[in-house]
Amino acid sequence: MSVTVLFDAPRANWTAFERPLRDALNEAGIEAQLNTKAEPDTVDYVVYAPGGGITDFAPYTNTRAVLSLWAGVEKIVINPTLTQPLARMVDPGMTEGMTEWVVGHAMRHHLGMDAHLTAKAGSWNQTAPPLARHRRVGVLGLGALGSAAAQALAALKFDVSGWSRRPKKINAITCYSGDDGLREVIASSDILVLLLPLTTATENLLNADSLALMPKKASILNPGRGQLIDDDALLAALDTGQIGSATLDVFRVEPLPAEHPFWAHPRVTVTPHIASETRAETAATVIAENIRRGEAGEPFLHLVDRNAGY
Ligand code: NDP
Repeated sequence: MSVTVLFDAPRANWTAFERPLRDALNEAGIEAQLNTKAEPDTVDYVVYAPGGGITDFAPYTNTRAVLSLWAGVEKIVINPTLTQPLARMVDPGMTEGMTEWVVGHAMRHHLGMDAHLTAKAGSWNQTAPPLARHRRVGVLGLGALGSAAAQALAALKFDVSGWSRRPKKINAITCYSGDDGLREVIASSDILVLLLPLTTATENLLNADSLALMPKKASILNPGRGQLIDDDALLAALDTGQIGSATLDVFRVEPLPAEHPFWAHPRVTVTPHIASETRAETAATVIAENIRRGEAGEPFLHLVDRNAGY
């Protein structure tokens, strides 16, 4: 029995994913018609990213699941025609990449590398950085990406706390949830990492009030979503010295317009939404596994909770 898998995403993604997906489906023992075009009512699974062709999922009457290529699904969950089960992407390759970005930028701020990169000839300040065990790092969002980054930081002996919607227990991380928990993490983070999804509950989470709670001169790393931060409040907090620095990978408008004040700000580092990405080789295996599960009548992995929005 063969399944029809429709790949609906921008063309460049097909180029990257076609071979790994065919290989992964073969390896999973799934006979599949994998294509970028198919009659909607013949499609069993849609591998999907916005910007392909589908805007209306209603004609996909026999589709068992829509499998997102991306981890962030805020642009997908708002489509009222998508009533089929929706799985987001949890890809070991993407997790590895995100952990590397977070650890790298956390280390930069922890070690004060910028001062040495820009040091004038003859400046000889022998103040050694503190040990990681004396640096408090908070991670907002303890999902696939946040928990991996938090654990990598804890393995380096940082004093790590984290915050999630539901209470969690993670080895070596002090875990919080709820509004009080959020205040606790924010108020005790020398470095704060945002790895939350964008939902109505997380938008503008970092605003003038929450920024004011942070330890003076704290650093912010945002590889989550631009809308998690109130841009004007962050710029104001940087200008008063309340916030020491921000490394931002994601923005309300992408590409970040050249005239946006983040570009010119001396204590803001802009990285162009490259903190991580879905890696075709590892992600193809995850997609094939979900199709195998669908065919075996097993529950899908990584289903999006439509009420929570992620
Ligand atoms: P997950 O869904 O696995 O984790 C999300 C985490 O956020 C969970 O711990 C969840 O809590 C928590 N959370 C969600 N809503 C709330 C809330 N209202 N209050 C408190 N905690 C909340 O997502 P991922 O870790 O896979 O990805 C996180 C985000 O990273 C993505 O949504 C995307 O925006 C971004 N991303 C950015 C990339 C980049 O290159 N810059 C690449 C990939 C992703 P709970 O555990 O209770 O569910």
